[in-house]
Amino acid sequence: MRGEELVVNEALKVRALPEGSCDYLLEFLRLYRDAVQIVVDRIWGIDEKLSWKKLHRLFYSDLVSMSFRAHHAKEIYVNAESLVESARSNGGRKPVLRKLSARVDKYDYKLDLDNMTLTLKLHSDYEVKLRLITSRERVERFRGWSNYELVVKYEDGEFWVSIYFKKIVKSLKPRTVMTIDLNFGNVTLAIYTLDGRRVRLKKLNTPHRKILTHKIWVERIQRKYPKSWRFIKGVRKAIERHGKRIKNISWDYAHKTGNTIAKLAFRHHSVIILEDLEKLRENNKKKDKEFNKRLGLWFYRRIQFCIEYEAMERDLEVVKINPKGTSSKCPRCGGKLVEYGHRVLGCKRCGFIGDRDVTATINIYKKYVSKHSRCGVPGVALNAPKPDENPSGMQGNKNEAMTTES
Ligand SMILES: [Zn+2]
Repeated sequence: MRGEELVVNEALKVRALPEGSCDYLLEFLRLYRDAVQIVVDRIWGIDEKLSWKKLHRLFYSDLVSMSFRAHHAKEIYVNAESLVESARSNGGRKPVLRKLSARVDKYDYKLDLDNMTLTLKLHSDYEVKLRLITSRERVERFRGWSNYELVVKYEDGEFWVSIYFKKIVKSLKPRTVMTIDLNFGNVTLAIYTLDGRRVRLKKLNTPHRKILTHKIWVERIQRKYPKSWRFIKGVRKAIERHGKRIKNISWDYAHKTGNTIAKLAFRHHSVIILEDLEKLRENNKKKDKEFNKRLGLWFYRRIQFCIEYEAMERDLEVVKINPKGTSSKCPRCGGKLVEYGHRVLGCKRCGFIGDRDVTATINIYKKYVSKHSRCGVPGVALNAPKPDENPSGMQGNKNEAMTTES
């Protein structure tokens, strides 16, 4: 298993305030828009996709003689070409530009993170310095990233810039595999060694029941005032209060869980395997129905988002697998599992019996391994969970399960 390199892209969109007059910047944005329009008008009649080389030959010298810099010219014709392309593929009419917005190459601006300023190179060798109106933390996040293009816009009397950054993340070479199974009542995670031995098992209880209580309140109120709840202030306020509670509870939980999981994965050098929730919807399996009937997928998405975010911050790799069959197939013989009792599944063919959630983590592990056979994992040792097995975190008080272990 090699550690892999991946590129992360992110944009910083902030309001920017020109120091001194903004006349040159406005003039630049108008000139730029008009130049893009001129190119659009000219290539609209040409019935082929033009290469950059051809675009360069057709427009470069004209644009430069309009007092644009070399890289401005390139951005203008590339931008015009892509506008024409997308209008054509949508079967639309020739684009007519109204908004003031320009794409600027990295050679035509200078970003100063220390002073939170941005210097743009404009037409006719003018320059304008802009102050970025945002918090230091937001800017600081991009230290060490490399910036490439930016887009500057004029909207409702304000200037906005979106600066695009990228960072190459080298994920750590994993030594173990952490699989995660999301359920209505708990999040079950298991860590396996590369040869299939389970070294950790943990269940974190979810606050689903709490969320559900608030949801039931909302529904009860709406049933009581079926038509008028939107218009009676007190009633609407009560609904909003419950909505806010749901939001807070779920985000709190997602953050805590993401953090706990990523910390544990970091300590064990794990690659993190999640179920692909989009696939879950397609498969429309039993678990899916349970999800949708009771809460919908949004809560699981929120948890996954936080897991992925915290993992990225620690340079850990996250892989998503299709969850089809993970809680209905026997991990030993592939037969169909049937419910033996409360959250216990069994296989009539080979006699396997296991806790439903733990069985899912084994199946997720097996799926990951079979897709990533280059790891050279020699089959799966099946330490099947006993039905009465108590994974760590399940013992004692329910709330204890959420505490971060040391
Ligand atoms: Zn079986």
